[in-house]
Amino acid sequence: MFDVIVIGAGPAGCICAITAARKGAKVLVLEKNDKPLKKLLATGNGKCNFTNEYMEKECFRGDSKLLSEILSQFKKEDTLAFFHEIGIYPKNKNGYYYPSSEQASSVAHALLTEMDRLGITVTCSAAVDKIDKRKRFFEIYTKENKYFGKHVVIASGLRAAPKLGSDGSMFGILKELGHRFVPIVPALCGFYCKGADFKMIAGVRAGATVSVYVEDEPVAMDTGELQLTEYGISGIPVFQVSRFISYALYEKKQVKVRLTFLPELTDEELKSELRRRIKRAGDYGGRNRQKIEELLNGLLPQKLSREIENMILVKNEGLKLSDDELEKLLFDAIRNRMILVEKARDFEFAQICAGGIKTEDIDIHTLESKLVPGLSFAGEVLDIDGICGGYNLQWAWSSGVVAGNHAVMIEKEK
Ligand SMILES: Cc1cc2nc3c(=O)[nH]c(=O)nc-3n(C[C@H](O)[C@H](O)[C@H](O)COP(=O)(O)OP(=O)(O)OC[C@H]3O[C@@H](n4cnc5c(N)ncnc54)[C@H](O)[C@@H]3O)c2cc1C
Repeated sequence: MFDVIVIGAGPAGCICAITAARKGAKVLVLEKNDKPLKKLLATGNGKCNFTNEYMEKECFRGDSKLLSEILSQFKKEDTLAFFHEIGIYPKNKNGYYYPSSEQASSVAHALLTEMDRLGITVTCSAAVDKIDKRKRFFEIYTKENKYFGKHVVIASGLRAAPKLGSDGSMFGILKELGHRFVPIVPALCGFYCKGADFKMIAGVRAGATVSVYVEDEPVAMDTGELQLTEYGISGIPVFQVSRFISYALYEKKQVKVRLTFLPELTDEELKSELRRRIKRAGDYGGRNRQKIEELLNGLLPQKLSREIENMILVKNEGLKLSDDELEKLLFDAIRNRMILVEKARDFEFAQICAGGIKTEDIDIHTLESKLVPGLSFAGEVLDIDGICGGYNLQWAWSSGVVAGNHAVMIEKEK
């Protein structure tokens, strides 16, 4: 009989197991993959951005009371101290914390070494497919085995990047236990779009402000390096607004995105730059219109300039454009590019999911289920998601520690 069984050896499950074991609990971690912490190895492009200096509510979405409660019990300072203690020296890059080694593998190694030191049993290739609640303990089933635990922590993630583990295989089990879910949608992901020649501009990375309009109402915006791809849009500013787009699409609403290139220039600065270029280049009203690409040279990436040229030529076939008309067309193409968002990329390509276990059904102080005493939750399976910048891992650490602490306390109180 284990004191605590943790389902899922992701970041939340591992720190939860360490917390409980440090308090003297006998802990088992069951992991469906053949190795623990597979997703962690992929974080931060293999460098693991594990927390952030700037840790405010606005960096997260979901139930704000739950968020505040959990982050106040295990803060970013606690994260830094915890990792420093197990050997991870922090490197602060513009507020984003990485291990000094810049290797996610060193974070995984430190966690697993600590788990080993504490005598935590980690059983891999063990996908949990049934949980039975008995009066004073749980029976946990995998295909091959049955395990007994006094307290169970679900740290199985949601559906993002299922090749790395979290595939939603626990949803049915949790629903059977009576838990309800806030709809789960991909977030920190790219989107399929219409409204530009994406084949032509695929590969372009350009600074841009991405503004989201749902049914023509502005809902979110972010500025950063936009990535244009064969299918549509991606990159950090898209990730930062992604959960708003995903939920609107889930609700079958119309979503448009306005792309504003050259965000570092004011409208007036851009207009005057375009005017100067048009004047210098001479007559663009007639045959020479195809020189638009050249006119934008040095201002925008070449592929984007060519795409703008094509768009203007197609839309104004046979028309003689005045300088003012051309300036306006160029300005709109650069500043007011409206594109239609068709769908989110699959969960496979999402870094996280928004949504999760409904907060009403859990105690926000302990993360214990109100429906099934002795069962708790940690990590992404809860209805909190963060923007890019180490916030999702901070959530995994904080909620994992809270669940681990309380699992032991509840056991002691019994
Ligand atoms: C490419 C990529 C890059 C990222 N970069 C960053 C970053 O730099 N910074 C940041 O903060 N966040 C980043 N994230 C997000 C971060 O990885 C997640 O927020 C975090 O891993 C969630 O932790 P978790 O423990 O809740 O869930 P997961 O990491 O998803 O772990 C859940 C575990 O449960 C296991 N499991 C699932 N079902 C079962 C079952 N039935 N039985 C047994 N085991 C099961 C899974 O195999 C998995 O190992 C990134 C994500 C991706 C995909």
